[in-house]
Order: sequence, then C-alpha cells, then structure tokens
Amino acid sequence: MLKVGITGGIGSGKSTVAHIFETLGIPVYYADDAAKKLMNGDERLKQQVQQLFGDAAYTDGQLNRPFVAEQVFNNPEKLTMLNAIVHPATIADAEKWMQQQTAPYAIKEAALIFESGAQENLDKVIGVFAPKGIRIKRVMERDGITRDEVMLRMNKQINETIKMRLCNYVITNNEQELLIPQVLAVHQALLALQNA
Ligand code: ATP
Repeated sequence: MLKVGITGGIGSGKSTVAHIFETLGIPVYYADDAAKKLMNGDERLKQQVQQLFGDAAYTDGQLNRPFVAEQVFNNPEKLTMLNAIVHPATIADAEKWMQQQTAPYAIKEAALIFESGAQENLDKVIGVFAPKGIRIKRVMERDGITRDEVMLRMNKQINETIKMRLCNYVITNNEQELLIPQVLAVHQALLALQNA
C-alpha cells in the first residue's frame, strides 16, 4: 500500500481536498487532530509536554491549550522544542495507522510534512496550492480572525512556492480551477502506481 501525504500552507484547502479523497474511499489521517488527541491521551507525550511547560500545561489531565499556545506564540525556541516532541509521536502514530489500512493507498494530511521530516515515511506527497490573498480571506472567514492574525500564523510557515516544488503532485485550489477533476487525476495516477 502506498503512503501519501497532503500538505500546503494555512488556508490552502488541504482538509477540503483530503475530504474529496475520502469520498473516493481513501482513508485519511488528519495529523493536526491526531496530535491534539495524542497530547491528551499519550502518557509519554503528556509527561514530556509537562516537563517543558510545567504543571500548568494540564488541567484535570486535559491539555491547557490556551496556556501552551501563549507559551509558544512569541517563543520560537519553545515552539521548536514542542514540535520536537509532538512531531515524532504523531509520525509514529500515523505510521501505525497506515499499517492498519487496506485501501490501495492511504493519506496523511499535515501542514508540516517537509518541516517535520515526515516525508521520509511517505511514498508520494500532494501539495495544495492557493494564492496568498485567497488563503488570507479563507482563514479570516473560517476562524473569525483579523488579517494581521492570519499573517502572523502564515509568516511562520515556509514559502509556499518552495514547498510545492518538493511535492510530487500539485492541486491548485484558487477558486477558478475545479478541484474534483484534479483530485481524480491524482487518484488515477496513484492507483496506476500501486498496480504497477
Ligand atoms: P489549515 O492549514 O488552516 O487547517 P487547510 O489548508 O486545511 O487550512 P481548509 O480548512 O480546507 O484549509 O480550507 C480553509 C477554508 O477555506 C475552509 O473554510 C474551507 O471550507 C474554505 N475553502 C477551501 N477551499 C475552498 C474552495 N475551493 N471554495 C470555497 N471555499 C473553500
């Protein structure tokens, strides 16, 4: 079975594209949701997070998300340290999940694939590309936040053009080109690879 990643910048439409693959019967692992669950459920990871941020990181056994977010927001070193414990745990969990799938291929959707080294466990990576202006508008509407707040998040991610060059397939989600035919073309290409 092929292991495939889907990545792209904030608001590019990764989840939207992943949902279309799901309608084709392809199982999808959503790394962000999984990481949140692991931070509440994986005892080893919980201990590591607690070591990094202190007891205030958890309230009644549940991650105190606003506290942790505040700790890392303007502290790149702390964010790097947090990623250094969360990413390997999520990569290992995704790997375990992949082993259990029986479809021709399975997808891992994650914003940070190349940044976390997750591509080493994947056979192919699909990039979802959307122009910056559209991504800003989408995230402002989806999350009810200001343009400046979106820009702050966006500026922490690596350049979109560079990221797309690292991908094996690119799906353009610019509200002009249709998504479903592009997803179908990649789906067919992956099925052909799997059968080769
Ligand atoms: P993030 O990295 O922030 O999780 P994402 O890349 O997963 O974002 P989505 O959540 O799929 O992006 O899309 C961002 C928002 O834009 C969502 O509200 C989604 O419904 C909307 N959106 C995405 N693609 C389209 C499209 N082609 N047409 C209209 N709305 C879209």
